[in-house]
Amino acid sequence: MTPLWQQSAVSLARAVRNGELRAAEVATAFLARIAALDGTLHAFLGVDAERVLAEASALDQRADRSTLGPFAGVPIAWKDNLVRCGERATAGSRMLENFVAPYTATTLARLEQAGATLLGRTNLDEFGMGSTTENSAFGPTHNPWGESLVPGGSSGGSAAAVAADLCSLAVGSDTGGSIRQPAALCGIAGLKPTYGRTSRYGLIAYASSLDCVGACARYVEDLALWLDVCGGNDPNDATSRSDTPAGDAPTLAALQQRRDLRTLRIGMPWQLNGPGLEDEVAASMQSAVEVLRGLGAQVHECSLPAVSYAVPTYYLLAMAEASSNLARYDGVRYGLQRPGGGRIEAMIAASRSAGFGAEVKLRVLLGTFALSHGYQDQYYGQALRARELLRAEFAQAFEQFDLLLCPTSPAPAFPLGSHRDDPLAMYLCDALTVPASLAGLPALSQPCGATADGRPIGMQWMAPAQRDDLVLQAAHAFERHTSHHLRRARP
Ligand code: GLN
Repeated sequence: MTPLWQQSAVSLARAVRNGELRAAEVATAFLARIAALDGTLHAFLGVDAERVLAEASALDQRADRSTLGPFAGVPIAWKDNLVRCGERATAGSRMLENFVAPYTATTLARLEQAGATLLGRTNLDEFGMGSTTENSAFGPTHNPWGESLVPGGSSGGSAAAVAADLCSLAVGSDTGGSIRQPAALCGIAGLKPTYGRTSRYGLIAYASSLDCVGACARYVEDLALWLDVCGGNDPNDATSRSDTPAGDAPTLAALQQRRDLRTLRIGMPWQLNGPGLEDEVAASMQSAVEVLRGLGAQVHECSLPAVSYAVPTYYLLAMAEASSNLARYDGVRYGLQRPGGGRIEAMIAASRSAGFGAEVKLRVLLGTFALSHGYQDQYYGQALRARELLRAEFAQAFEQFDLLLCPTSPAPAFPLGSHRDDPLAMYLCDALTVPASLAGLPALSQPCGATADGRPIGMQWMAPAQRDDLVLQAAHAFERHTSHHLRRARP
């Protein structure tokens, strides 16, 4: 029999609902795996084993198992920038090292409601700012495919946890690629939904016009179920979309209907499919396209000229919004506080100097500059105009194509420390993921190959807003006919 930790969330939940498995039994198996493997990976920042077992056993006590939810007993981890009542929420920062959340994020509340076993908090770049998880104040996460490699970021802990089968699914956040890129570098699937499709309530803000709550998992069907459970309007988030009412999104069912890709028109923007790619990434894309054509898809080249501005546009907007969002950490109401000799300004300065890491400080400074009097129109205003241009180009492309496709990352996982002193090189790693973020589109990364030395390579689907079902269907069809997703780093 397939070991518990290799089964999909959908099949684990079915077994728990049927009474073939107990939630406590599943939780115990995953806790043991975390204890055995996470010492070297450091995917988790906190696992409260007692609470996990108590909650799983409480689920098992329920008299009528048929009333258990769609994620009954499924072990799910969450990125430590989502709050859960009574648990710490550090955002990977010294600033919030001892912060205990007084309420629960909507996504986690919906998972609790659906019967999931919430396993623990995963590591991330501080406040989501980074592409390697090395910016965590609590030390980096290691890639399960090689301990000297980065897992990607900022949801590197979530992706590594799924890739090492330490949980069936992990929730993350994606502002400019933070779910898709680590999913690609760790060899699993990752979904960034349409902006506003999932609630940001209880997500510690980085850049609010870009932040999306999403998830990574080994199997695409698990991501579809996750979106069905966690998507939908939330009155607690003013930017949550109201055109997808909660509970009315049969994405999982739609997956079962499409078995091939006949009639699907797939566009490959040349700007995202050539310049700057490592050879092995380009070669994997080539073979993936052959598979897609074999499944009946029509694949053609297209053009999105404005993506050449995407990285500077993204970083200007993200830093500007971050400088505003992070102003709340002033040591007064919560978070780290350092004495200021009786002067409030000195107290705030001391607290922020001690609480934030170098990358966060860099971004707050640059973001504040971009918003400052005399420069605002030149930087922030210009970035907003470039964003509109990009949106318009995407809209035009989707008149001709159902989906767009490109690699997720120009390069596979690289050694820890190799990009540390070159922020620009690090930012350029996001060139392929930030376009969908700027346009608010659904995007999904899935494994499509590997380098000669075994490092995973991922490809990314993009679709029009609210067509999350399309990226899931296409990825599911590809998964069904390939075996890249079954390659495992850890037995
Ligand atoms: N690497 C990008 C950044 O540092 C994206 C991070 C994210 O999506 N949270 O901003």
